[in-house]
Amino acid sequence: MSRLRVLLEAFRGRVTLKEYPFKTLSAPEGFRGLPRVDADECIGCGACTLICPSHALRLVEEDGVLVLKHFVSRCIFCTMCADVCPQQAIVVTKDYELAALEQSELEASIAHMMAECKECSRRFASEKTLEKVKEILGEQPYLYLCPDCRRKFFIAALTMGRR
Ligand code: SF4
Ligand code: SF4
Repeated sequence: MSRLRVLLEAFRGRVTLKEYPFKTLSAPEGFRGLPRVDADECIGCGACTLICPSHALRLVEEDGVLVLKHFVSRCIFCTMCADVCPQQAIVVTKDYELAALEQSELEASIAHMMAECKECSRRFASEKTLEKVKEILGEQPYLYLCPDCRRKFFIAALTMGRR
């Protein structure tokens, strides 16, 4: 139905949306609907959680597992998460029917195994993220060190250099 026709129908007091919700209408080109994270592609790097303006994406540690959580009810569909994801793991769909009876239906989680620091055994990053860094940079002496041990490693290296 053309816009003019819709306006005319509205002025006449007639119903213009005859089809929906009885028939699902497809969203127009460029419509930003629900972003979905592909669990196979996600490496748990957390880049999307840093850019998300509404904290709809969060990376939390639960019992030694790193969990990427998506709280759909907080999402403002800006799609910045999809822009920064280094894995292109976030697909912006055209899904717009997001109402749910339970809050839990509006949450999605992806769990990642965590790597242990080879010095202090603390769990500090997802194994997949470290594998990706290794794939790009090759084997690095500090790769499997947590941030604290890495700092000690660099301070020791600087001190050695001064001697
Ligand atoms: S930025 Fe991409 S790869 Fe990194 S945690 Fe988010 S979805 Fe996963
Ligand atoms: S679309 Fe925007 S608000 Fe929604 S999860 Fe991505 S970055 Fe956050």
